[in-house]
Amino acid sequence: MEQRLDEHEREEYWEKVQDALFNAQIDQFRAEFLELHPYDQAKIFETQPEEVRKQIYTYLSPEEIAEVMENIDIDDVELFFSEMSSDFAAKVLAEMATDDAVDIMNELDKNKVASFLTIMEKESAEEIKELLHYEEKTAGSIMTTEFVVLNANQTIKEAMRHLRKEAPDAETIYYTYVIDNDKRLVGVLSLRDLIIAEGDWLVSDVMSERVVSVQVGEDQEDVAQMVRDYDFLALPVLDFQNHLLGIITVDDIMDVMEEEASDDYSKLAGISDVDGPDDNVLNSAKKRLPWLVILLFLGMLTASLIGRFEETLDKVAILAVFIPLIAGMAGNTGTQALAVAVRGIATGEFEKQGKLKTILREAGTGLIIGICCGVLTTLVVYVWQGDIFLGLLVGISIMATLFVATIAGSLVPIIMHKLNIDPAVASGPFITTINDIISILIYFGMATAFMNLLLH
Ligand code: ATP
Ligand code: MG
Repeated sequence: MEQRLDEHEREEYWEKVQDALFNAQIDQFRAEFLELHPYDQAKIFETQPEEVRKQIYTYLSPEEIAEVMENIDIDDVELFFSEMSSDFAAKVLAEMATDDAVDIMNELDKNKVASFLTIMEKESAEEIKELLHYEEKTAGSIMTTEFVVLNANQTIKEAMRHLRKEAPDAETIYYTYVIDNDKRLVGVLSLRDLIIAEGDWLVSDVMSERVVSVQVGEDQEDVAQMVRDYDFLALPVLDFQNHLLGIITVDDIMDVMEEEASDDYSKLAGISDVDGPDDNVLNSAKKRLPWLVILLFLGMLTASLIGRFEETLDKVAILAVFIPLIAGMAGNTGTQALAVAVRGIATGEFEKQGKLKTILREAGTGLIIGICCGVLTTLVVYVWQGDIFLGLLVGISIMATLFVATIAGSLVPIIMHKLNIDPAVASGPFITTINDIISILIYFGMATAFMNLLLH
């Protein structure tokens, strides 16, 4: 069994292979390089300098390069296609699975795409053109048209013969879809169903008629959810008249889940788009700055709030010592509640449980957390500072703050979701700043009110 290659092993492997490349021993190079999985080929390929890459294009066939390109990060492919000759690039695209080719073409310059499509073999060009129309992030944009269809009144024997013929070009042969004379989807068969059936049975006898499918315009995130729920390896995509347009396979769904998770994560951190490792410094800064500037001003607001309690602070200077503690704890618990809420919204758990119940549950949790931390804080501050009133003040502030901050952490994303703003935008830093303000108000409000107990 081959193990997964790490970066170092790939480098070592390349050391062995590259001599063949440089000495123009084409056959030897091909034998050794193609022995690797296309993923490892891609990882090696993308770290090579341009002149080596260009040599590799001449040593491998369009079909072999297509497999390499399918394994390269979509943000990096543009460069590689720009260094191939148009003729070669068009051939590579034609050899790729249609959905992958379309993904790449969406990254390329419009004129380039047009010229590739004219050079390309007509059949591939038509397939790609069809898919290029679909809007980004919909089922149509991630489906592929290389699927196998059967006829309901075929015998199993005929079906198997057809499958054998179609198999080399199909994205998956594990499911075959059954259509009627109007090309409407009427059933599905798994390879297992086919293999265990007798040759003279009819496809219609064996197929499942209750087919789970998605509409072509459906959001890719909802499609991913369905694949997760039903555990199928592929789902059929239909138009409004139930014509079968394509299929979405589970490997595309994994890409979608990664994309959506990284989208949500960036929004949580207040970055519009995660910086790639090769983004230059200026670009990375530009992506992160807008949120930080907003937060800077919100922070100023917090600072001016503390300024308002200057008199209280003057009289009891020790209060300042506990500001970071209280504000920090409020931020922590708020972020925890936020994470729970965003996940609840994303997985649809909230819809099931009801919002009020969710908020009440969070409030209960906040109360328990608050009481525990409050009592603990009171004791510690009392022992440390020898002042029971100061201990009570800080302890009760912590308690109230944690209670309110937990509710805020779950309420804000729910409200955002209601207002149709992506709740992941209710990012961590935003909640933290709101909770800073709340906690300062509670802490100093109480300190001011009970000032005479603290002065002695
Ligand atoms: P089993 O789970 O029964 O062992 P399996 O593991 O071979 O079968 P699965 O992928 O779990 O195959 O598919 C189970 C059944 O679901 C198959 O009979 C297949 O025909 C059917 N099926 C596949 N795709 C769909 C779909 N989109 N809608 C409804 N049924 C489907
Ligand atoms: Mg199964």
